[in-house]
Amino acid sequence: MDKVIWVWIEDQAGQPSEASLELLGEARRLADKRGQTVYAVRLGAELPAGDLAPHGADVELIGLSDRLKAFTVETALAATTAWAADHPPDLVLVAATPQGASLAPRLAARLGFDYAPRTVIAEPTPDGGLSLRQSVLGGKANALSAFPAGSGVVLTMIPGALGLDPPDPKRTGQRRVVEFGPDQVPAPVTQVGKFIPANPATVGLEEADRIMAGGLGFARDGNWALLEETAALLGAAVGGSKPTLDRGWIPPARLIGQSSGRRLAPRVFVGVGVSGSPHFVEGMKEARQIVAVNQDKGAPLVGLADLTLVGDLYEILPAVARQLRDRPRGQDSEETDD
Ligand SMILES: Cc1cc2nc3c(=O)[nH]c(=O)nc-3n(C[C@H](O)[C@H](O)[C@H](O)COP(=O)(O)OP(=O)(O)OC[C@H]3O[C@@H](n4cnc5c(N)ncnc54)[C@H](O)[C@@H]3O)c2cc1C
Repeated sequence: MDKVIWVWIEDQAGQPSEASLELLGEARRLADKRGQTVYAVRLGAELPAGDLAPHGADVELIGLSDRLKAFTVETALAATTAWAADHPPDLVLVAATPQGASLAPRLAARLGFDYAPRTVIAEPTPDGGLSLRQSVLGGKANALSAFPAGSGVVLTMIPGALGLDPPDPKRTGQRRVVEFGPDQVPAPVTQVGKFIPANPATVGLEEADRIMAGGLGFARDGNWALLEETAALLGAAVGGSKPTLDRGWIPPARLIGQSSGRRLAPRVFVGVGVSGSPHFVEGMKEARQIVAVNQDKGAPLVGLADLTLVGDLYEILPAVARQLRDRPRGQDSEETDD
């Protein structure tokens, strides 16, 4: 039986997460080069039909059980390994999210595979093996590793690092649904009470969907609270350039740039009064949409930005904050009461 590529699909509110869709695109690319089939592996109690074929899946393998209603590592592990005999993979792609990072090494151990965390680039080698570049030392360096043909690998990939491929509406695939019995999936040891959406003010920068970062443009009067208030209204996590760290306006965990070791890829990045030096840009250039607020049209970040508001941040931020405050409630679909 030919070995296949599995992609672990993580659901958010009943929909495949963007990180999972990114992985499907990557799996498709690898499968086309290696002549393999891509299985999207998805678990839940009941899952709405989500067509994953346009994103790269040949087969959507869906496991259903009341015990899979919420993610727990022990139930997910039991369900996925139950499939390994019938649909054996030699490569498993998992997003390096908290859930994925808890599942992936255990799955590797169960399958007897190698485990390659925080992979940035995966390429097939001419002899049928796999060559990987992994982010190590908190993102400060990359490690190269090679796996010979025939070895099984579970790898995690950093969400946002690959980018989302546009779906191909012409691609079609199969959908197979398996109802797991109680002998196949154990009762979860961990009981999930409820999900509490992350608070943008406290969520780590790597997990933030939106980031608003400030720089020395705030030096005129040091009114950093203006940035924090506007970021809160926008539902964005706060970050800053190195000089703002040196001034004590942000803690080290909020630093943007190469010295932080973090490569951030939020959906939206707003840089306010920050020039966009190469050291800074290294940490945020993968952001999907970049907005710059700067009085200098020639600032490097302006050259990188999709949208620029040219002017004095002390006039622009209060105006933006006013608009955000005045918008009708619920206009932002991601707004929560938390
Ligand atoms: C080895 C090394 C590592 C480094 N690592 C990092 C790093 O990880 N992260 C990092 O950030 N830096 C790092 N730096 C420093 C980096 O080179 C820059 O000096 C720094 O990023 C500049 O920060 P800034 O953009 O806040 O300040 P500036 O470069 O001074 O930019 C301020 C910007 O604000 C704008 N501005 C000013 N007033 C206003 C206003 N009222 N309204 C609107 N716009 C205004 C200006 O036009 C300007 O573009 C490193 C340097 C070295 C040597």
